[in-house]
Amino acid sequence: EAPPTGKVGTRFDLEKETELRFEVEAGEAAEQVELELISGMAEVFGSELNRNKKYTFGPGSKIAVFTWQGCSVNLFGKPEVAYVSKDTPMLLYLNTHAALEQMRKQAERENERGPRVMVVGPTDVGKSTVCRVLLNYAVRVGRRPTLVELDVGQNGVSVPGTLSALCIERPADVEEGFSVQAPLVYHFGSTTPGTNIKLYNKLTSCLAEVFSRRCEVNRKASVGGCIINTCGWVKGSGYQALVHCASTFQVDVVLVLDQERLYNELKRDLPHFVRVVLLPKSGGVAERSKKCRRDAREEKIREYFYGFRGLSFYPFSFEVRFSDIRIYKIGAPSIPDSCLPLGMSQDDTQLKLVPVTPGRDLTYHVLSVSSIEDGEEGARKGIVEAPVCGFIVVTFVDTQTQMMKVLSPAPRPLPRHTLLIMDIRFMDMK
Ligand code: ADP
Repeated sequence: EAPPTGKVGTRFDLEKETELRFEVEAGEAAEQVELELISGMAEVFGSELNRNKKYTFGPGSKIAVFTWQGCSVNLFGKPEVAYVSKDTPMLLYLNTHAALEQMRKQAERENERGPRVMVVGPTDVGKSTVCRVLLNYAVRVGRRPTLVELDVGQNGVSVPGTLSALCIERPADVEEGFSVQAPLVYHFGSTTPGTNIKLYNKLTSCLAEVFSRRCEVNRKASVGGCIINTCGWVKGSGYQALVHCASTFQVDVVLVLDQERLYNELKRDLPHFVRVVLLPKSGGVAERSKKCRRDAREEKIREYFYGFRGLSFYPFSFEVRFSDIRIYKIGAPSIPDSCLPLGMSQDDTQLKLVPVTPGRDLTYHVLSVSSIEDGEEGARKGIVEAPVCGFIVVTFVDTQTQMMKVLSPAPRPLPRHTLLIMDIRFMDMK
């Protein structure tokens, strides 16, 4: 698509250490907004802007253009809001980066591992944004940090309902975010950790183990450390999940955004050598409604199948015979302790593989394709801890002929035949 031409931009002159915040109206009919840097230097969440290049932002985008030295930019189109703010925590975020960089230098000198950082806080405080800024700054000074994404609701790496890890090798694209090549992805199956906290903690540990193993053989990854993005659920089991994550990843630094209570609790409960730091949230972070989140999740699934703007994918649709696949749900519904068979605990039920008989109610569900070799199927236990190699959506079920139709990023046949069902559904309106 050629950018609309002939539009007159609105010019903003920014003083040093200020930011231009703007939001693009949500909804299908909304017009996109274009941004152009005219003079000086500026960055969007830690990624530098090129001069005289138009960046396009789609419906629902909430953007901050920050400048360390001062700059002029043009906005084209009709943003829902656009204003300049002098009050930004970017300097604190930069100082945080500088402290982490010191730790990396020390790790290099002493043949140790680099900082493992967990970013926590309630929803809509800018956790993902802080992760992005810190990763960008690290990669810009030549580091190779790892992003660990534990936010199963709003996931920057893969489709919702997954936990994942991604090695960062270049700054995030201003419009599209980090390039997602070869992420390590695990199936969780729903958008909140609360639906199966045992599984959530188990998969967090799986990621920690894989990351640690990688650090043993890859010095750059080890020195680069990791930045862990977490869920906004910070009470009860959600809080316990954060403590579990800190311990399984052996984090060195916890950045708490905007919640003193959480900060005090973590200071109290984590070992004394963990540095717990309270950081303010940016006034620019906008609260997102339930609908906004739902739309963002759906968009993420759509992107998985259809690509993103410049890069379109053409997914395939084909039939799959029930007899060729095995579908499981992870976690049996919990039953009272008194009803559990002797020697079995609730933990066992939450990690149990329950075979799913394909029926009409499977329609529109997202299924993860497990990477487990078909031959290994006997080793059922391995399925829960096996990464996934992709996702399909069931678009039609025919119980008569024992077939279902699926939407898939790759042509038939399916690479593997063990499928895991998500609570998440996707209705393909294209
Ligand atoms: P969380 O991860 O805590 O849920 P996010 O980092 O996803 O929060 O931020 C929520 C929204 O706010 C995102 O759309 C993000 O682009 C936007 N945002 C973050 N920082 C700013 C800022 N300084 N100005 C404007 N929008 C921002």
